[in-house]
Amino acid sequence: MSNMERDKELSVYESMAARFDVAVKKLNLDEGLTKYLRTPNREIVVHIPVVMDNGKLEVFDGFRVQHNIARGPCKGGVRYAPNVTLDEMRGLAAEMTWKCAVVNIPFGGAKGGIVCDPQKLSAGELERITRRYTAEILDYIGPERDVPAPDMNTNEQTMAWIMDTYSMHVRHTVTASVTGKPLDLGGSHGRREATGRGCMIVTDQALKRFGRQREQTRVIVQGFGNVGSQAARLMYEAGYKIIGVADINGGVFNPHGLDVPALLEFVEQSKTVQGFPGGERIGNMEILEQDTEVLLPAATESVITSANANRIKARILTEGANSPTTAPADDILFERGVFVIPDILANAGGVTVSYFEWVQDRQGYFWTEGMVNERLHHIMVAAFNDVVRYGEKHGVNNRIAAYMLAIDRVAFTVKLRGIYA
Ligand code: NAD
Repeated sequence: MSNMERDKELSVYESMAARFDVAVKKLNLDEGLTKYLRTPNREIVVHIPVVMDNGKLEVFDGFRVQHNIARGPCKGGVRYAPNVTLDEMRGLAAEMTWKCAVVNIPFGGAKGGIVCDPQKLSAGELERITRRYTAEILDYIGPERDVPAPDMNTNEQTMAWIMDTYSMHVRHTVTASVTGKPLDLGGSHGRREATGRGCMIVTDQALKRFGRQREQTRVIVQGFGNVGSQAARLMYEAGYKIIGVADINGGVFNPHGLDVPALLEFVEQSKTVQGFPGGERIGNMEILEQDTEVLLPAATESVITSANANRIKARILTEGANSPTTAPADDILFERGVFVIPDILANAGGVTVSYFEWVQDRQGYFWTEGMVNERLHHIMVAAFNDVVRYGEKHGVNNRIAAYMLAIDRVAFTVKLRGIYA
């Protein structure tokens, strides 16, 4: 494979576009509508001047891509990482449009990011970067326009800073301007666990199809941040056997099952899973290829590619991360009979509870954790069934089924609104 081919395979945008193209062909969507839905509505590039702790002025590049607003305001995370690119934002923003449509919530898709290395930044520097980024994109965000949320290396604190900066500019407190906020600032019960919980709910549904019990089911989780650690904890508590976890530093593996509560305590202290005494060391890519029933990538994109897909032994792939599998790897997994629960379905629990948070903020009336979890369960099960049935009806795999269902829903709204007159 040439370098160019490899770069193309690893591009999130290219993966999204490849699946989109297959789905629109199957849907027989007309050319103009296809062009419209393939292209982001708006791409914002900002250059953020920030005074660092050492007194020097630094300039960071930031992006916000808004893909589509046909079904409602844009919704999507903001990530901080050294390798953030506009191309990646484009792919992830489109995926957000499709994700919101798969779970049938009234949002379009967006994604934002800042090119920076959060591990090398102080809390003060991160706060100044966040506030300036917010000020730069202020005209384009807000509860009715575009509602940011946490993603890689951003968290409740980041959302609190964005909400505060937005509120200062519009001169009143607007809690519905972001989701994933701390509970005391208009956050929702259950949001922190929502993506991991959603992953478990859809995995439960897959087990039902295979007539398998949780207790007989081994799980490997790559990524131990918000999504990975919550998924591992909830699945462990529900009876699954978590046999391996990894983060950016490396992994830990125990075929007899890891003691997840002890692991969580260990991570609290050491900030990494590496070195946990309850299992053997393993590489963070090697872990993907171990024998297991469920593989749950919850770290970063393009980790399952044409280079390693034929070594994946899992029967069920629950995509906690966004775009962890490249388009060429899809075909290999399909041929090998892996039951893929695609990202736009599997990790949609996060955006679903973000939707609940936005609704609660706008109502000024907050739900109990039980209500949140029950409603999340209802939406995730319905979406799982919609996707799987759609796939069976049209003779396509779950990934293409999810794309077809989502594109169909957005296209229908576009036609109703008459944008495409
Ligand atoms: P996070 O920053 O909290 O955690 C990321 C984890 O992945 C960390 O443990 C990190 O060490 C690990 N990691 C990074 N690169 C790795 C690598 N190469 N190998 C192994 N581990 C690696 O991020 P998060 O919020 O948990 O998000 C994880 C993924 O889930 C991202 O793809 C994100 O877009 C997606 N996602 C997150 C949410 C959410 O609600 N947070 C919702 C939907 C999708």
